[in-house]
Amino acid sequence: MELIIIGGGIIGRSASWHLQQRGHQVTLIDPDLHLETPANPLNGSRAALGLLMAQVFHRASGRAWRLRQRSLELWGPWVEQLRAQGHPLELRRGLLLLASDPIELERQQALVQQRQALGLPLEWWDAARIKALQPELPPALGGLWSAADGQIDPLPLLQALGSDARRLGARLCAQAVINLQRNADGSWRVELANGEGLTTGTVVICAGASTAPLLHTLGLTLPLAAVLGQAVELQPASATPAWSGGPQRPAAVVWQGINLVPRPDGRLWLGATCEPGSTADPQALEALASLNGQAPAWLRQAQRLRQWQGVRLQPQGRAAPWLERLAPGLLLASGHYRNGLLLAPATAEWIAAQVEQPQSAP
Ligand SMILES: Cc1cc2nc3c(=O)[nH]c(=O)nc-3n(C[C@H](O)[C@H](O)[C@H](O)COP(=O)(O)OP(=O)(O)OC[C@H]3O[C@@H](n4cnc5c(N)ncnc54)[C@H](O)[C@@H]3O)c2cc1C
Repeated sequence: MELIIIGGGIIGRSASWHLQQRGHQVTLIDPDLHLETPANPLNGSRAALGLLMAQVFHRASGRAWRLRQRSLELWGPWVEQLRAQGHPLELRRGLLLLASDPIELERQQALVQQRQALGLPLEWWDAARIKALQPELPPALGGLWSAADGQIDPLPLLQALGSDARRLGARLCAQAVINLQRNADGSWRVELANGEGLTTGTVVICAGASTAPLLHTLGLTLPLAAVLGQAVELQPASATPAWSGGPQRPAAVVWQGINLVPRPDGRLWLGATCEPGSTADPQALEALASLNGQAPAWLRQAQRLRQWQGVRLQPQGRAAPWLERLAPGLLLASGHYRNGLLLAPATAEWIAAQVEQPQSAP
């Protein structure tokens, strides 16, 4: 089937790659496709830290759990396939979630027990083991180790998915969509900023922050709220953030909701905040960079190399992500909030299932 995907963030690129592999002919439209620096500096996928948090999710049933589990299952083979095409991607496994107060400690220990009962590889690390990790971590009463969750760098991933989708025959169109219209015969007209128009039977909207305005042109109002996230890259003076606890070395450490992501070059990413709207709050960034005033000395002394921000969309009044057939031939895959990187493969599968059963009920 021929179809158009609007938006080339992680959701649109993953879907294009997956659908193209399944024999569909995809046109992927995004003004930022070939830009090193995006026209919109708030694009979520380019800002993300790439954490894949599936098995540490607080619930163990329902749609969100299934999507997380399925995505985690798919990321390994997806990365292998892309690596086989020469893309230098690495899926780093192992997340360490620190408990900074007794309530969190109790919750995390209960989660370890529940997940172990399901046969999932979660472990409890006591305070002494956390304290022994070098360089020093912020104060913690213990920590939950999840061996299967992990992290993948978003920028090389976006590049690999776009490039491999093109190798598989996807058409990449570096334009902005300015309007969508339903034709009398039921097909869709997609109007581009350069004045051109494309016609197709199926459109998938993955346009991040432009999703709601685009759908507004069709008279549809979607309650999707923007939530800003900020991150910084630090260069520690001497300590290299490795935190190797025996054979296990975390791809990321999470403390009070702040992610610490050690980089292969000895640097460190720190992020991400949750700020309503799309305007960055300098105080939120300082709280983040200082780990709410509890950063150990090596971290306080680290040089700040760069900082960035991005917007993620949170559906209002319903659970993330927002996956829906809005009309015949019109699919929505947006509102992934804080887990777009994680959920991209399962979202691509959902889109493929919808595309391959076009007559099914909304
Ligand atoms: C600081 C930060 C850290 C994060 N960390 C993580 C993490 O660790 N793990 C995780 O899973 N998630 C993380 N996220 C969330 C994740 O980034 C988002 O859920 C994800 O980016 C959503 O992807 P998307 O493709 O829907 O949207 P986007 O990435 O916003 O992409 C939308 C695309 O649509 C294009 N577009 C917009 N308008 C148009 C138009 N009119 N025509 C054509 N194209 C258009 C844009 O150019 C853009 O490329 C983080 C987000 C932030 C901000």
